Amino acid sequence: MHKTHHDKIIFMQPSLEKLRKYFRLERENGYNNTAIIGGLSKMLDYWEGEARTDTLSEEVIQAVIQRLRSYDGLAPQSRADALKGLWKRIADTYPEAGQKAAGAPPPRPRTTPEAAPAPQPQRQEQEVPPPPGRADLAPGAKTSATPAALHAPLTVLQGVGPVHARTLAGLGMNTLGDMLYYFPHRYEDYAQLKPIKSIWYGEQLTVIGTIESVHTRPIRGGKAQIVEVVLSDGTGALRLNFFNQAWMANRLKAGEQYSVSGKVQQYLGRLVMNNPDLEPVDVESLNTNRIVPIYSLTEGINQKWLRRLMLHAIKYWAPLVADALPESVRQSAGLVPLGEALLNAHFPDSQEKLKAARARLAFDEIFYLQMGVLRQKRDWKSMEARRFEVSDEWLKDRIAALPFQLTSAQERAVSEIRTDLGSGQAMNRLLQGDVGSGKTVVAALASAMIVQSGAQAAIMSPTSILAEQHYRNFLRLLAGEDGILQEGQIRLLIGDTPEAEKEEIRAGLAANSIKIVIGTHALIEDPVVFQDLQFAVIDEQHRFGVDQRAALRSKGTSPHLLVMTATPIPRSLALTLYGDLDLLVMDEMPTGRQPVETHVLRPQERERAYTMVRGQIAEGKQAFIIYPLIEESEKIEARAAVDDYETLSKEVFPKLRLGLLHGRMKPDEKDDVMLKFRDRKYDILVSTTVVEVGVDVPNATMMLIEGADRFGLAQLHQLRGRVGRGSDQSYCLLIPTHEDATENERLQAMVESNDGFLLAERDLQQRGPGEFLGTRQSGYASGLRMASLTDLALIEKARAQAQSLFERDANLSQPEHSLLAEAFGRFWGTGAGDVS
Ligand code: ADP
Ligand code: MG
Repeated sequence: MHKTHHDKIIFMQPSLEKLRKYFRLERENGYNNTAIIGGLSKMLDYWEGEARTDTLSEEVIQAVIQRLRSYDGLAPQSRADALKGLWKRIADTYPEAGQKAAGAPPPRPRTTPEAAPAPQPQRQEQEVPPPPGRADLAPGAKTSATPAALHAPLTVLQGVGPVHARTLAGLGMNTLGDMLYYFPHRYEDYAQLKPIKSIWYGEQLTVIGTIESVHTRPIRGGKAQIVEVVLSDGTGALRLNFFNQAWMANRLKAGEQYSVSGKVQQYLGRLVMNNPDLEPVDVESLNTNRIVPIYSLTEGINQKWLRRLMLHAIKYWAPLVADALPESVRQSAGLVPLGEALLNAHFPDSQEKLKAARARLAFDEIFYLQMGVLRQKRDWKSMEARRFEVSDEWLKDRIAALPFQLTSAQERAVSEIRTDLGSGQAMNRLLQGDVGSGKTVVAALASAMIVQSGAQAAIMSPTSILAEQHYRNFLRLLAGEDGILQEGQIRLLIGDTPEAEKEEIRAGLAANSIKIVIGTHALIEDPVVFQDLQFAVIDEQHRFGVDQRAALRSKGTSPHLLVMTATPIPRSLALTLYGDLDLLVMDEMPTGRQPVETHVLRPQERERAYTMVRGQIAEGKQAFIIYPLIEESEKIEARAAVDDYETLSKEVFPKLRLGLLHGRMKPDEKDDVMLKFRDRKYDILVSTTVVEVGVDVPNATMMLIEGADRFGLAQLHQLRGRVGRGSDQSYCLLIPTHEDATENERLQAMVESNDGFLLAERDLQQRGPGEFLGTRQSGYASGLRMASLTDLALIEKARAQAQSLFERDANLSQPEHSLLAEAFGRFWGTGAGDVS
């Protein structure tokens, strides 16, 4: 394949290229043996290795070693002769070392405002004649493994010295291989260019023109500046406005040609572009490429220089990269070969090729992730676990004893779990259910299935409040009149439990007289030993680390595991993050729940909000008032819980009882406040987002959120989930920081929907997976350059391919999978890790 690009390839073997550079430097330094610190002979040790990697002929290698070893002892004139003679000797074997290149040499960086002047040695590197033709790779000798040279430093490239190498390293490019994966952040498609006279309001496009004029004028009474630029292309003129970018006035000069991309807008009947992207026109790329890559830059290099460097490196190396994806997978997934994909990801011949290239590269990324999670899932499944079987009648009785009727989603969940527990394989379930969907009772019924045959269950919650809440629920559900357990067989173990009682609980667990223990991380921190733990439940799983979950699991011998979460995770993400778990979704609320009525109020309407709060409290209900921050911060004008608590309790609600809850309080202080609120000792709970998780106070019907525009959609939904848990109509009032934000998309989405999954999808779309997941799990997203964790179609495709591959060759032991096995090992060796 590289043959087709023969005339454009200008690289020699990297080891020869390097020699040539040093020789040239030597010449420019007057043959004083300073091209390399310590003299030319110093390079021989490592050069010899590189030369062998490049499979240079042994005669050439020996010739180089001999000449250079004695180089220091020669007089300057003899040195010149020695190097010339040596180069001639090399050219005898490698004719391309003596020729001019067919392709153009990488340009020296122009000294523009973007590109700092190149330092001295750099400059010398640039001034030499273009390098000879490409290295002599035997035609058709496509290597089966990626050439070691891909690990070569960038200094082997023509035009790249140590300074540029450092700059490129700053962009994440340390080796030639890195360059192949340094993708453009966007492309300029000059084929879709439009003349100014035919552009339309609302279009997103690129125009090219000459700058006619540049003016700066103050706006908003001198508080800000606008730079007005007129661009014309012979067919018409377009006004460009730059707000608060005064420096643009110095950068842009009349007469210069620019390519400008942005959205066409209208101002006073004329077409304008506000804050468009713009770049000096690169006439050459205009002529040679229809679609031009735009790379992210950094100080010291400019677009044109980097693009040229890329062009040469990629045309040469992309076809040589070994493709680890088995041919069978590639064919059945309809993907282009890796080399072709790399080439077209940088320098696409057409939009179609670009699309195919991106599809291939994105597939690779997701494919490795899916192979990883599927392998983990298989390891889980191979673990044998005790069977727990219950009769239909037993289950019917248990369900009949509940104080309410199960929703059909709950019934489904219970029945799936029942099947898992009876399967003989360790259950590994993620139960996803929106806030208030009733996950606790599912966990309780599952626990009942375990303990009815004599084994033990443990339930771990992130806070004492939640643990205590579960404890009461479990007592009510399992140790009531028709219950299957005695009260003493269900116990609560939290940090605050008195030491004597802890002792007693530990003894009971060790003796299996206690069947169910509910607690916090105290369950894993204390020296708790179970006689027969067969079931572990983790509530609000995102609040626990992987280690903590593993620690609970390890208290039993391959116990069944149920992980619960109220954070709706779109299926696309769940398949990656929890791809090793079996998903179970409860998408239905208990009957009688009314959707929370949600309103966005302007900050000036706060008094109205307070009136509504008073109204609810007059009816015997309770309210939450949420603030985004703890203390007033200068930077963020958010109203602060601590300050406002004072005002609220003294001035706004002097007759009501207010509690304050925030993250800087000690855990037991927080619990104390929460319990008082639950027990109706407070009418209003003023709080930061610490109430977000799981707290169940059915009597609370009012949720007032201040600074609502500062919260993410998922978070707003979680907060709103604190109300609407009883059968009475509940309300959620959202007050943004500024009036402008009342139109905020997130706030409007909240008004329109009560569906957590729908909102999660929107949130994901708006914020991207990195932020959506929060820092703890964002590692997944950050490794992806082409794929998106939200691309469900791609994820399902890659998952299906990985599944079918594992079915054919579970351990990737067949020879045609050896490259893949290696790449897979590398991928998972360096990071992602256990997510269950
Ligand atoms: P979450 O899924 O958020 O953990 P909980 O398990 O805390 O929800 O349940 C929320 C409330 O709904 C609790 O008060 C619980 O008793 C009640 N509940 C659960 N299932 C039902 C049902 N099927 N019918 C009526 N109320 C239910
Ligand atoms: Mg819960």
